[in-house]
Amino acid sequence: MLLYEERKKIIEICLKMKKKNLTNGTSGNVSIFNRELNIVAITPTGEPYDTLVPNDISIVNLSGELLEGKKPTTELEMHLINYRNRSDISAIIHAHTIYATTMSCLRKTLPAIDYMIAIGGDKDVLCAKYATYGSLELAENAYISMKDRYAVLLANHGINTAGQSIEQAYNILVQIEYVAQLYILSSQIGNPVILDDNEMKKIVTRFKNYSRT
Ligand SMILES: [Zn+2]
Repeated sequence: MLLYEERKKIIEICLKMKKKNLTNGTSGNVSIFNRELNIVAITPTGEPYDTLVPNDISIVNLSGELLEGKKPTTELEMHLINYRNRSDISAIIHAHTIYATTMSCLRKTLPAIDYMIAIGGDKDVLCAKYATYGSLELAENAYISMKDRYAVLLANHGINTAGQSIEQAYNILVQIEYVAQLYILSSQIGNPVILDDNEMKKIVTRFKNYSRT
């Protein structure tokens, strides 16, 4: 069986997402790219997370051809486009978390209301242009708005996060969801103060150095 360890990790993350209310039903998808073998393990389409077994996980090459497992998620290209073009990404999570998706419905940039936003690689998280789910256009829009970053909102849909490992992508998802929640809650009772660009520049640099050590 190809990529057995990656398959197990994907299931582990899916169950964690379910437990932490970062997904509902079969929404969202998770992938890991094995650079040595040049193939990807990714969640199959339409399978509930809690019944997933390693055999179900789809194994595809970078052209999207199925090598083993069930039919991959309809958002496959949104993952592959990053693996084909970015050497700094080896894992991606796409999710429909409530607060990040709420921001995406407003089609607004998530600003620096908390310094933890820097975990996404910059002072804010951009919202990619709308396109139909599962389309090549959506994959491209998401890719463009995540350039040099590790998180992006998808208009009226959800969020993508990426990392060198699946644990890193998961941590970014949790933190960005938290920042989105802070922004939405504080906006209910006033105008939240956004950290200024100079301060955020310092923090983003610090985060980048930290993640390298
Ligand atoms: Zn989706």
